[in-house]
Amino acid sequence: MLAGFAGSTPMVSLPKIAVVGAGVAGITAASQLHAAGFPVTLFDKSRGLGGRLATRRWPTGVAFDHGAPYFGADDAAFKAALEASKAATTWQPRVQGTKTGDMWVGNPRMNAWLKDAATGINTKLNTTISGITANAERWTLSVDKRKAVVDADIVVLATPSPQAAQLAAEDTELAARLDAITYTPVWTILLSLNDHNAIPCDVIADTPADSPLAWLGRNAGKPGRDVDNTGWVAHARAEWSAENLEITTDAAIAKLAPAVITALGCTREAVQKTQAHRWRYANVSQSAGEPYLQNAKGSLFAIGDGCLGGGVEGAYQSGDALAKMLIAAHTEA
Ligand SMILES: Cc1cc2nc3c(=O)[nH]c(=O)nc-3n(C[C@H](O)[C@H](O)[C@H](O)COP(=O)(O)OP(=O)(O)OC[C@H]3O[C@@H](n4cnc5c(N)ncnc54)[C@H](O)[C@@H]3O)c2cc1C
Repeated sequence: MLAGFAGSTPMVSLPKIAVVGAGVAGITAASQLHAAGFPVTLFDKSRGLGGRLATRRWPTGVAFDHGAPYFGADDAAFKAALEASKAATTWQPRVQGTKTGDMWVGNPRMNAWLKDAATGINTKLNTTISGITANAERWTLSVDKRKAVVDADIVVLATPSPQAAQLAAEDTELAARLDAITYTPVWTILLSLNDHNAIPCDVIADTPADSPLAWLGRNAGKPGRDVDNTGWVAHARAEWSAENLEITTDAAIAKLAPAVITALGCTREAVQKTQAHRWRYANVSQSAGEPYLQNAKGSLFAIGDGCLGGGVEGAYQSGDALAKMLIAAHTEA
């Protein structure tokens, strides 16, 4: 039973929590807090859940996991959570090059397991939080476009750290710690092929050192995907992406297409259509080295992969650690 509750009569109300960002970290924290009885609202500026665990679908039906293509799960608690989910599974691709350890994916989409975890949470999508203001003992969140405001006792910033730093700007100490976290970018090329089965593997993991590409993967090769999906995703190297960060999407396609064709061993004519997507904050290069960051009052927190690094798994650990701390602080005598 929750501390502060006598029988079914609440004696002390739990703090109202606003979580900004519905990626792995935000959903992990929000779902545990919601399950523990906290009034939680989860905001995301996108129209879907999952953040960088993203899938893009073209009008033709071809789908691309153009964010994190898979992730590891060495942490026992994270692995147990994935194993308990019907919407996550390991992927055993045919790899050209060096295979890494276990490769977990959402099934049938990268965000499927997070959608399950977010069930029942008061979630506001298409909602950009444009500012947070300390207001006596509470927070006021400004919501873009609709010019609406929302109140909360605790705000959890679960966005990439540079975006969290902007929202936390009034707390110069916390903002400075967030600003010290750094990311590397990734340009991705999404392409559909006339005959995707002509390529005899699902993943190309080892590209020549002089290639601007780091990784290529076939969407149809993943569990639960449409086997007729003709989509491949190619990731540029972090260094190449940083050097070419501000080029246009057309320029990215023009510059990367020859390397994609070489890596796939196909002809230019085999490629039906291409698109480019830039991830400005793809992977953490310098983390905070702590599971979460907080202000002095303990009413504003930052979570996400920027805290511990470690990609999807690190983002989960960050959200999990904050939720456990808040639940212990507010519900245990
Ligand atoms: C191309 C690519 C390849 C990757 N490869 C791997 C890999 O192989 N293995 C691995 O483990 N990880 C990989 N990653 C990294 C992994 O995707 C991230 O570490 C993880 O998804 C981060 O989760 P998060 O919850 O911290 O942040 P995010 O997933 O970024 O979630 C943050 C959310 O906040 C929302 N948001 C931001 N600002 C606002 C605002 N003002 N108001 C409302 N909402 C807001 C965003 O829309 C987003 O949904 C890769 C990432 C990319 C892009």
